[in-house]
Amino acid sequence: RILLTNVLDQYRESIKGIAMTVQDITREVELNEAKSNFISNVSHELRTPLQCIKSFIETLHEFGEDLTEEQQREFLEAANNETDRLTRLVNDVLDLSRLESSCRIYHFEAVEIGLPIEQTLRTYQLNARDKGIELAHEIEPDLPSVLGHYDLLLQVFANLVGNALKFTEAGGRVVIRAYSVQQESEASHTQNQVVRIEVADTGIGIAPEDQQAIFDRFFRVENRVHTLEGTGLGLSIVRNIIEKHHTKINLVSEVGIGTTFWFDLAVFQQKISAAQSHSVVE
Ligand code: ADP
Repeated sequence: RILLTNVLDQYRESIKGIAMTVQDITREVELNEAKSNFISNVSHELRTPLQCIKSFIETLHEFGEDLTEEQQREFLEAANNETDRLTRLVNDVLDLSRLESSCRIYHFEAVEIGLPIEQTLRTYQLNARDKGIELAHEIEPDLPSVLGHYDLLLQVFANLVGNALKFTEAGGRVVIRAYSVQQESEASHTQNQVVRIEVADTGIGIAPEDQQAIFDRFFRVENRVHTLEGTGLGLSIVRNIIEKHHTKINLVSEVGIGTTFWFDLAVFQQKISAAQSHSVVE
């Protein structure tokens, strides 16, 4: 009987082992698939501006003498714009791959959320004024510090405000809000305070069927703004950073009315600061 029990135990273990291996392989296959899709998308996205730049330069090189000065300037400007686009794309791809790198350590600390918000406003104010859009912030006084990563949060604000300005017409308004909210913890039924951040615009809005897909890499809603600057990676970067803060990015949007992206950040707790000020190793 002992022999039989041993054999059965071994059998059960090996079944468990097989199940785990199958799971591991499935996950590996999925990861590889995602990676190769990403690489083929990146290659495609990189090739397009490169081909444009090459054809502009070839035209100038071969037919430059037949073109007017005005036409030559147009070709050079177009090549310059495509080079900028290429630079943005390479930067976004690098940012995303750095964020997804498995051995990177992020130090989280107390962040006064007003600071990255004000910095973002200073960066984008001129751009907003040029487009005839009002860019403002509404920060509740005496907000507690949040537990976060300053530079990553700055990148979130830059991407969200950059998009809001891109997809809002002249006369519109973009506002960054920060205020405190009491949240009920599901586990302990206690109230805990979080800081809610909103980036709201009065722009073109996003149709319900696109509201999840916009976070996918390279997804861009087909519209007339599509051809403008943009890599389709901004919101993937935002989602990744927000998830590193152990929270979730949400949106409320209505076509023709506007869009609000929002997320909650944990309040920095002085007493348990040593434990909280952790390094996130993904
Ligand atoms: P992109 O570089 O194209 O802005 P993102 O990942 O940042 O890439 O955004 C993906 C798409 O989501 C955009 O191309 C646009 O169609 C849509 N989108 C993002 N933000 C807004 C917004 N504030 N208003 C309307 N559409 C938006």
